[in-house]
Amino acid sequence: MLQTLSEVQALDLELDALATERAQTPPALVDMRARHDALEAELGRRKADLNGLRKRINESEIELGSLQERRKSAAESALRASTSKEASQFQNQELQFATRLQELEEDTMPLLEEQEARQAGVAELEEQLTTLRPELEALEADERARVESLDERVESLGVERSRLAQGVSANLLKQYEQVRKARRGLGVVPVTEAGTCGGCNVRLPIFVVQKVRKGQGVTRCPSCGRLLWSTNA
Ligand SMILES: [Zn+2]
Repeated sequence: MLQTLSEVQALDLELDALATERAQTPPALVDMRARHDALEAELGRRKADLNGLRKRINESEIELGSLQERRKSAAESALRASTSKEASQFQNQELQFATRLQELEEDTMPLLEEQEARQAGVAELEEQLTTLRPELEALEADERARVESLDERVESLGVERSRLAQGVSANLLKQYEQVRKARRGLGVVPVTEAGTCGGCNVRLPIFVVQKVRKGQGVTRCPSCGRLLWSTNA
């Protein structure tokens, strides 16, 4: 039964190795994902900046429109004025609106230039992302294939393990699993020719070695607690 258990363990070790391998994402993919995410984050920030600026420009444009309306209306009122005093008042108003219009136009100009620069920045980042995406997708596809083939091996090993484990008593299997978990690796180890524990190398007491070699029940290493078995048993 311990022989079978050691075969179960061989499969468990292989499964452990596969799990480790599965978790090791290729560095090229890790790098590419990081570059992609950084670009997306940067693009998000730049777009938010651009939108903020667009909002300001939009507000300026509404204000400009309203000033133009008011200037036009003052000019019309000046033409319709019945006295020259009234006409001069409307002309003054028109002049004030014209001055404010000019100021606002001057203030808006740099915003428009800034908008152009920011749009170019956003476009450049979008282009970088467009170039990067197919590279990332190719690496992701490779990764899916890699993981899939590992999963297939894990599945077939799992089937084999279940089959083998049926030849081991539930109690022994449970003990083995507990020790293996506690010891992170080996749960059942052979007694060496020299009478030491194949797990922790401690010299085993003679009676322990004899018990194991006779195949009498389940014996644990007094030092590391691993289940001991002997090829001579
Ligand atoms: Zn030991």
